[in-house]
Parts: sequence; C-alpha cells; structure tokens
Amino acid sequence: MSKVAIVTGGSRGIGAAISVGLRDAGYKVAANYAGNDEAAAKFKAETGIPVYKWSVADYDACAAGIAKVEADLGPVGVLVNNAGITRDAMFHKMTREQWNEVIGTNLNGVFNMTHPLWGGMRERKFGRVVTISSINGQKGQMGQANYSASKAGDIGFTKALAQEGARAGITVNVICPGYIATDMVMAVPEKVREAIVAQIPVGRLGEPQEIARCVVFLASEEAGFITGSTITANGGQYFA
Ligand code: NDP
Repeated sequence: MSKVAIVTGGSRGIGAAISVGLRDAGYKVAANYAGNDEAAAKFKAETGIPVYKWSVADYDACAAGIAKVEADLGPVGVLVNNAGITRDAMFHKMTREQWNEVIGTNLNGVFNMTHPLWGGMRERKFGRVVTISSINGQKGQMGQANYSASKAGDIGFTKALAQEGARAGITVNVICPGYIATDMVMAVPEKVREAIVAQIPVGRLGEPQEIARCVVFLASEEAGFITGSTITANGGQYFA
C-alpha cells in the first residue's frame, strides 16, 4: 500500500491537524493550500511537511499539482478532501458568485482531486479517499444554502464512489464535523459562537485533532471493511 497522502487545505485548521496526524502515523504528506502563503510557510517551518499551492476549484491545476506531488513523494494512496470555504448569505441575498464559489471549491473540488487520482488507485488496487463534509450538509443551515448543498453533495458522492471502488481495494468515506475551533468558526461573531456552543451537548467546540484522528483511522489498512460510511463527529449536536 502507498503511504503517500495529499491533504487539501492541509496547512491550516482541521487540514493542518490531519496533515500532522498522518505524518505522525508514518505517511509522507503533501499539504495543499490555495493562497495564504504566510500560513503555509509557517506550517512548513513548524512541521517540516511540504506545502503545494493550487486551487482545488481548477481541474487542470489539480492534475498538475498531483503530478508534482507524485514526482516528489511517489504514488498517492490517500486523498483527504478537506479544502472548504463559506460564503454565507440568506438565499434571497445570495449572489451567483457566492453560490458558484462554494460549489466550485467544496463539491467540484472533490471531483477535481479524486478524478485524476482514481485511475492510479485502481491500478494499484489500493486507495483511501476521505472527504470532510459538515453537520450542515446533514441537517441544512439557514444562511448556508450553498454550503449545505455542497456538503450534502460530498456525502452522495462518497456513497456512490464507494460502490465503484470496493472491488479495487479503494475505500471512500466522509466525515461530518460539527463546530470545530478553527479560523472558519472563530471568524463568526462571539455572540453567535456562544449561541452555537449552547447547542452542543458536550458544551464545547471540537478540536481539529478530534477530526484528524478519524481520518488517520479511515486511512489505515485496518479500516478496509469500512466504505461508503459517514462518521459524525459533532459533540452530540445532531444525530444523522
Ligand atoms: P479553514 O478556513 O481554517 O482552512 C481552510 C483551508 O482550505 C485552508 O488551508 C485554505 O487554504 C484551504 N482552501 C480554501 N479554498 C481552497 C481551494 N480552492 N483550493 C485549495 N485549498 C483551499 O477551514 P477549517 O479547517 O475550519 O475547515 C476545513 C474543512 O472542514 C472545510 O471543508 C470545512 O467546510 C469543514 N468543516 C469545518 C467545520 C468547522 O467548524 N471549522 C465544521 C464542519 C466542516 P489557504 O490557507 O491558502 O486559504
């Protein structure tokens, strides 16, 4: 099995914790990011994990980025589709740009990354695809029609592709985190954050490492019988 992993959006937040978790589990990790060079350079300096810049919203850039990673590190066995954005607005105020940007990154990005890697995983008879969806893809969230649609799409994608990959030794799974303490959530006004925490039965936000541990488990050879599944990690906020 290939112990090379790509983590999209792997230099910050949940993705950074996933990159480190996989590295600590013995993988050669490539951490992709989109544009925050400063954060990526800091992450690389702190962890020694190589960073690669391209947008998952661009298919050709993904294919070229993957080719570079494979030339540097070897054939990719583990893909973690973690990159994601929000462009929140109530639907009557939502612009086409807000819709398209979110679908382009969170849903098309998953296609753009998985598709170029799929053939190699099939040939090598091993692969692990783990996508980070969201509680809001399961339950829907007002002000996030674009985000909820993209994240629900990631779940459907996973269930379909798991069936196609099963005989080729490729597992495809999805994780739905609840609210995790990252830049994405800390950008929300404090009052709103307090209201969010009040809805979480465990009484706190999740930690990025709590999602990373789920990924490391799903990526392992031992998790070969788990495919098409959704891991819900949300502190008891919602039972899908
Ligand atoms: P952050 O905003 O902290 O980090 C996002 C990461 O994704 C960054 O590394 C960013 O790169 C990268 N990224 C954004 N757009 C692109 C793109 N087009 N191409 C490549 N990389 C891109 O996010 P979180 O860590 O909070 O979230 C990670 C994932 O978890 C997302 O998919 C999110 O939807 C999901 N999630 C998060 C929850 C939370 O509570 N935080 C809850 C549920 C799901 P750069 O640094 O260059 O900007």
